[in-house]
Amino acid sequence: GKRDGRGSFRFFERAMDDALRARALMECDLREAILGGQIEPFYQPVVSLHDRELIGFEVLARWRHPERGVLPPSEFIPIAEETGMIGDLSYGLLRRACRDAASWPPHLQLAINIAPQQFQDRWLAEQILAVLDETGFPAGRLEVEITESALIHDLEATRATLTSLQNLGVRIALDDFGTGYSSLYHLRELKFDKLKIDRSYVNSITMSDERAKLVDAIIKLGSSLGLVTTAEGIECSGSLGWLEDQGCDFGQGYLFGKPMSKSEADQYVEGGTTE
Ligand code: C2E
Ligand code: CA
Ligand code: CA
Ligand code: CA
Repeated sequence: GKRDGRGSFRFFERAMDDALRARALMECDLREAILGGQIEPFYQPVVSLHDRELIGFEVLARWRHPERGVLPPSEFIPIAEETGMIGDLSYGLLRRACRDAASWPPHLQLAINIAPQQFQDRWLAEQILAVLDETGFPAGRLEVEITESALIHDLEATRATLTSLQNLGVRIALDDFGTGYSSLYHLRELKFDKLKIDRSYVNSITMSDERAKLVDAIIKLGSSLGLVTTAEGIECSGSLGWLEDQGCDFGQGYLFGKPMSKSEADQYVEGGTTE
């Protein structure tokens, strides 16, 4: 009856209140985490599929939360993007990664993820340059990963940022290739250096002939446009062998190593293995 209705509405209101409060708290925590250095770079190995040598790492953000342990990016990157904190987060992360990488052999590269909206920021290239200057990390060892969703926002602003970065000597990789839309249009309109084939394709190549044909086509498309290709999410040696045979240039995935802390990455660099 009436009573129940009002009761459940109150319940709903309270649930909303709780959700809003939790969200506000989370934003506040995240802001402090960024300022307090709790956002930490983890490193996932990237390997050459021509000789299986380590060529560098992708930087993946982790939140070392004082109570909740190490949190994955899905728990905080969306909030950082929505609240505009992503710029500060990235800046801190890149700075720390460039410092960490100073102790690694000079041929090892770093790849960093930059959120779609950051490409609309006309100061992005300047900020990255400032970090490179401060840390002494060479631009030629840095790669920026961009997803296709950045390109549908404002193609002209994105193009300008990409060009500034490339003029500094930073390379640009198109991330998660095959998951967005109008990929071919963007390949025509923008100059990338690398295609990263999404792991949803890579996982299933040994099981699905269709997937295998698509991955093969992507590798050929890349090389005919003068781009190198990285296969993401390689988990088994069957896929690895197949990708090597097709001429894919680089590989990344649990088979080579999961994202790891700086000290684990140090060991990986020395020994070439983990665990
Ligand atoms: P991404 O850029 O596509 O990164 C690859 C993701 O796949 C990582 O998840 C990595 O741990 C996972 N992965 C790698 N190899 C394998 C594998 O063999 N199997 C499986 N199942 N997964 C694998 P992670 O670290 O949770 O990051 C998720 C996403 O969060 C990233 O996807 C990226 O879009 C975003 N992200 C991470 N760090 C940053 C950052 O600093 N800035 C921004 N804007 N986004 C970030
Ligand atoms: Ca990436
Ligand atoms: Ca990816
Ligand atoms: Ca992804």
